Amino acid sequence: MGGFARAFWTGWRLRCPACSEGSLEAAEGPRPVCPRCRWQLTKPGEGDWLVTWLVAYTVGSVGLLISLLLLYLFSRFGIGTQLIVSGLVGLAVMAITFRRSRGAAIGILYFLRRHWEE
Ligand SMILES: [Zn+2]
Repeated sequence: MGGFARAFWTGWRLRCPACSEGSLEAAEGPRPVCPRCRWQLTKPGEGDWLVTWLVAYTVGSVGLLISLLLLYLFSRFGIGTQLIVSGLVGLAVMAITFRRSRGAAIGILYFLRRHWEE
């Protein structure tokens, strides 16, 4: 599990999970290959996007739940308003962290692919 958490966190910080140094993104956008260790960061057609969305959706859901909890504790809004506001917060969190979610997904896939090879 340690290797998994480390790969996830390294990707979240937008660093290559293989060498922890190479940047996942260039000025013009996401990189397909790590500039430092040549690890193939994305493999189109293998469902990378699905993992990215799973991570992004999970992060957004956590944002939604935290928002809902805070509104429940500290606001006087009705439940309908609480849900709408929290839904928007979840979407905003998802949008803001999307690049990092993509990086974390690259970390997860790195971890899985290394294990399949062994
Ligand atoms: Zn690398």
